[in-house]
Amino acid sequence: MDNRTCEESIYLDYAATCPLYPESADAMAPYIQGGPANICVNANPNSLYEAGRKAYSALEDARGRIAEGIGANRPDEVVFTSCATEADNAALIGLASAAIAAPNRSAAAGMPHIITTSIEHDAVLAPARSLEKSGFEVTYLKPDRSGHIPPESLESAMRKETVLVSIQAANSETGAVNPVRELAQVAHSQGALFHTDAVQALGKIDVNMGLWEADAASFSAHKIGGPRGIGALYLKSRTRIVPGMLGGGQERGLRSGTQNVCGAQGFAAALETSLSLLAEEAPRLEALRDSLYSRLLDIPGIKPTVNTAANPEGYLPNIVNVMVGGIESESLVLRLDSLGFQVSGGSACSSHSLEPSHVLTAMGINPDDAYCALRVSMGRYTTASHIEAFAEAMPKVIDWNRR
Ligand code: PLP
Repeated sequence: MDNRTCEESIYLDYAATCPLYPESADAMAPYIQGGPANICVNANPNSLYEAGRKAYSALEDARGRIAEGIGANRPDEVVFTSCATEADNAALIGLASAAIAAPNRSAAAGMPHIITTSIEHDAVLAPARSLEKSGFEVTYLKPDRSGHIPPESLESAMRKETVLVSIQAANSETGAVNPVRELAQVAHSQGALFHTDAVQALGKIDVNMGLWEADAASFSAHKIGGPRGIGALYLKSRTRIVPGMLGGGQERGLRSGTQNVCGAQGFAAALETSLSLLAEEAPRLEALRDSLYSRLLDIPGIKPTVNTAANPEGYLPNIVNVMVGGIESESLVLRLDSLGFQVSGGSACSSHSLEPSHVLTAMGINPDDAYCALRVSMGRYTTASHIEAFAEAMPKVIDWNRR
């Protein structure tokens, strides 16, 4: 069927962005009504009159609910940002800059060293490269073939000069989940700070700042059914950071700029909804994931990128990644789109690039196979019949491409 409208299409790209949850839309509705009365709920939260104080209360209410949802100790450990990219940049550049400015850092200390991984999102890799240009040494750990970063590889990369470690909680392409707590413990045992990009993990697996022992973590509302344009940086109390956004001193001086009260309320509602659904949704999605893998792997020419069956706990429940022999991702994605399926060839952010995925090649997959990767990511509105329809369409897509 070549003429399915967008509304009729089957959306299987939740790792790129998640449809807005009605609970989040309802929470934001009062803030987006037009007209002069709007200011009664949507004043500047830093204004002193009553409407401003109400907006401030709504902002702080959202902060408290998000802090609780991520297992932070205190609401003021949540700093609102415009997205996770901003939170990642703030963490990498801000924490690294603060570490070298620390009063107890001796002048004789060697070149400051940062450890991250070669499978991070570009929101981490780009600031890491920028820090390299400004004199930091950066080690990019490689994953093992399963897409994970073993704590032992971090342990052997640690140096006395290491000031910061940043390792993702879960990968957006393969769904590989890293042992965050163990990794944080390795970093701390040598006196380095630990940041994790937890964007893909939130709402899919248990995320808890206390248990993870992270000093900082990045989150994004639009990956969990909240709106675009708001994210958060978790920053453990007393962690020193150099703020990147300077101005009016909002967010306790850590991120200047008038806060997005509407977005914060939408973010909090989306997080609470995701967490209330988690116990039911995680096994449901895992069953869909396993059934899709087994349906796809029965099709000649399709290979799995990772073996989730060998370690089901080691992967997010909602991501399937396969390589479709000899057919480039772009052709697959476009043909599937014309048949009414929205999927991704790699991470959404790199889908305009013709390079093979940096994640898959870092895992040791040869670039020719990596060019043929297809990521299917599921969520709240994905049903067994969507998966069935997708699996049935794949042989046709392959035949069409080979014609
Ligand atoms: N980190 C990871 C792991 C992601 O998957 C993404 C988005 O794809 C981001 C960061 C960036 O998030 P945002 O769109 O909120 O900037």
